[in-house]
This record gives sequence, C-alpha cells and structure tokens, in this order.
Amino acid sequence: MTKLFVSPENIPLLEDIIADESKKVEDLKDIYENNCMYFGPYLSHEDLNDFFKEVKKEVDIFLDVKDITYPDCDYCEDVPWKSDFDHYNRVFEEMGVVRRRGKAMVFPLSHEYTHHVQSFAGLPVLNYRILNEGHARGVDRHITNLYAEREDNKAFIYENSALVLKELKRAYNFTCDFNGIKPKSEFLKDFVDVKISEHTLGTSLFMVYEALHGKEFYKDIAVKRFPDCFV
Ligand SMILES: [Zn+2]
Repeated sequence: MTKLFVSPENIPLLEDIIADESKKVEDLKDIYENNCMYFGPYLSHEDLNDFFKEVKKEVDIFLDVKDITYPDCDYCEDVPWKSDFDHYNRVFEEMGVVRRRGKAMVFPLSHEYTHHVQSFAGLPVLNYRILNEGHARGVDRHITNLYAEREDNKAFIYENSALVLKELKRAYNFTCDFNGIKPKSEFLKDFVDVKISEHTLGTSLFMVYEALHGKEFYKDIAVKRFPDCFV
C-alpha cells in the first residue's frame, strides 16, 4: 500500500488538497485568535459516555453498520493502567481518550470507535495499519465536519484540521523525495518533520482516493470490501 501511495500521479492531487486544507487552517486560526471558537466545558465521565453514544450513532450511520456493540470508554487519566494517549484495545474492547474540552472530544471518540468497528468487521491489522489509520482518520474528519456544520461551530474541527495538514505536508515531501522530484515550497510552508507513519500515509492516501472516487468506499472498508487498489 505504501507503494500505491508514493505513485508520482498523486503529487498534483496532494498539492490541490494541501492548498484547500491550508486555507481551511488559516481561517480556523483567525477564528481561534479572535476568541470566536467555543469549545464548551470539560465533560464528566457520565457526560462523556452520553456524548459517545451520540457520536457512535453518527459513525454507524456514516459507515452504514448496524448492531455494533459499545466498547468501554474512559478518559485515559482516570484508569492508571491505560495508555496515556488516545487508543483502542481490540482484546479488551475498550477505548481510552485524552481529556479535551467538550466539542473537541468528537475527534478522538469517532476515531477510536472506528477502530472498534474495524475490529468487529474482522479487518486485519498486521500489514494493514495504513488502511486502518487512513480509514479511522477519514471517518473522524467527516464526523467532526458534520458536527461543525450542524452546530455552526468550528471548535469541532480545530484539532484534526491542523493535524491533517501537518501529515499531508509530510506525506507530500516523502512522495516527492521518493520520486526524485523537488517539492514546491508553497506547499511546505510551516513544514514539520513528523515521523512517516501509518497515520501520515493513511490520511493522505485516503484523501487522494476520496478526491478521485468520493466517500462511499469508507462503508465498503467497514464491511471488509476493499477497493481494488488497496489490496
Ligand atoms: Zn487510530
């Protein structure tokens, strides 16, 4: 799959996506700096679980899946033996999320719950990490956008938009390097040399694929039907 990603044909598409996402992040920065972004209060454990039920419903609709069980959901810091970063554990069917203010919780909840759906569908993990992470990142992007539009509040997308842009630039730089092409500096403004990971490549690969084919394939992956080019 990494081979598929580094295809030189993706470079112009990535440039278009980076240009769009950069504009989005600039606008978000303005709104944030003018104190016009409402993140809401931190949620109690009980409120977190109520909110998670709501987010789960939206992810289930987006992925067109039914009868998926509820994984345990806690703040990492409340359970000492859990990892201190957002995660989903397939064996124990539990997810842990880092505490953020209310609206910002949609991002980790939708992302980690998508890993639970993948596990439910029997999606392989070994050698498929790019697929798992690209899929989860795509879902969290759509669900956070849905909330931002519905509640007319960009706080929902603030965190993951900045992260997505950072990953896109890293993946663009990696793809250009791999093909011996000089990257254009306009697409690498504020470049951060983050580690090339399944998140970095997955995010970018899925955004390229989505630009070409639309977002229906997210549903296919949730029932283990992979687009030809992903296998
Ligand atoms: Zn993930």
